[in-house]
Amino acid sequence: MGIKVAKFGGTSVADANQIRKTGEIIRSDGDRRIVIVSAPGKRFDADNKITDLLYLLKTHMEQNAPYEQVLQIIRDRFLETERELGVRAGVAEEFRVIEARLVEGASADYIASRGEYISAKIVAAYLGFDFVDAAGLVRFGAKGKFLREETKEALGATLSACERAVLPGFYGTRPDGEIKTFSRGGSDITGALAAGAVGADVYENWTDVSGFLMADPRIVANPKAIDVISYKELRELSYMGASVLHENAIYPVRLAGIPINIRNTNRPEDKGTMIVADDIAEEQGRGQRIITGIAGNRDFTVIAIYKNMMSAEVGFIRRVLGILEDYDVSVEHIPSGVDTVSVVIADRYLNGKLDDIIDDIERKTQADSVEVFENMSLIATVGSGMMSRKGVAASLFAALADAGVNIRMIDQGSSEMNIIVGVENEDFETAIKAIYNVFVPTG
Ligand code: ASP
Repeated sequence: MGIKVAKFGGTSVADANQIRKTGEIIRSDGDRRIVIVSAPGKRFDADNKITDLLYLLKTHMEQNAPYEQVLQIIRDRFLETERELGVRAGVAEEFRVIEARLVEGASADYIASRGEYISAKIVAAYLGFDFVDAAGLVRFGAKGKFLREETKEALGATLSACERAVLPGFYGTRPDGEIKTFSRGGSDITGALAAGAVGADVYENWTDVSGFLMADPRIVANPKAIDVISYKELRELSYMGASVLHENAIYPVRLAGIPINIRNTNRPEDKGTMIVADDIAEEQGRGQRIITGIAGNRDFTVIAIYKNMMSAEVGFIRRVLGILEDYDVSVEHIPSGVDTVSVVIADRYLNGKLDDIIDDIERKTQADSVEVFENMSLIATVGSGMMSRKGVAASLFAALADAGVNIRMIDQGSSEMNIIVGVENEDFETAIKAIYNVFVPTG
């Protein structure tokens, strides 16, 4: 018998109806033996996520504001789900404990973690699986550093001894037993850790979209879905803003060579996106498709520095980067020419520092000119299929020229897996559409 680790996100466990769908998916494949759940998410657009309400509950407590109403909303949602599913998960009793701990001043991490904890209790009761608490298994150090090896061992030992189990995502414990959560969206990480620890055949991540799309559907009408993508390609696209999965969820499974399958609980018939090892995706890429996806972000500033004979000056780029480090500004890209170097910076890091940075660069590097281009967007075209294929860059630039888009910057990673262009913010959408249309055949 194989083993699939299946993580279900907030919308997949948002209410009794969604949990029934989740149950059907799990029961339809006997290999789905380890299940990780998030806290209930939104049932409709204007709804609240349980995790947000739990943080709100803690804030009320801290501000000495009446907290009962918020607690009641949260409790009622869980009680309703328990009742509608006809299970006994001890929700009322759990809430008595939570309220007592809240009043005693329990930490925000503890309070927030209860969403996943009760969600897992309900799903375990509904499926007839063991409930396995993440406390004690997902381990953090005394200062909050995540302990990868200890966690792997503890999770592996406990989960391997279970026939079928449900584990709450998002949190673990410090050595003193205090709850510590991952960052938001962290149930993806717990799922990946469990998959790595039991050596799963696949890590399924069930959400409310059928995987990754080749481009943002708000920009390109009906973009094609990505059926297979490598971890590396995914990293490039996520960095540029395509988000479905928590970034830190990739490492534990990538390390173990376990594929991730992003699936849609509301459309289980869709195959979703498979995230696989780089060589496997590359092989596929070399086959037919040229690009895997396009992603981008707005609001960057480019500082372009020119100095005659820069190329012969030792330490020039280090000096420029040193200045940015002094201002605590992180750099996205550093395209360079013979006597020019540009630094690309996300505007959110600059807040009010730009003029001082320019002054410093002029003074400390004795540059001949320092030019600033504001309101820039970066667009990454990613795909292992581009590697060593001739004419890809030419087609991309031609497409942008035909669309009347002026390219202000080009950066091609040495892996040849991505080409990043800088365009004006106002050309952002036109550029993405043009690139998509030239590489993705219609129909
Ligand atoms: N419930 C947590 C959050 O909303 C963790 C998760 O769902 O992954 O961030």
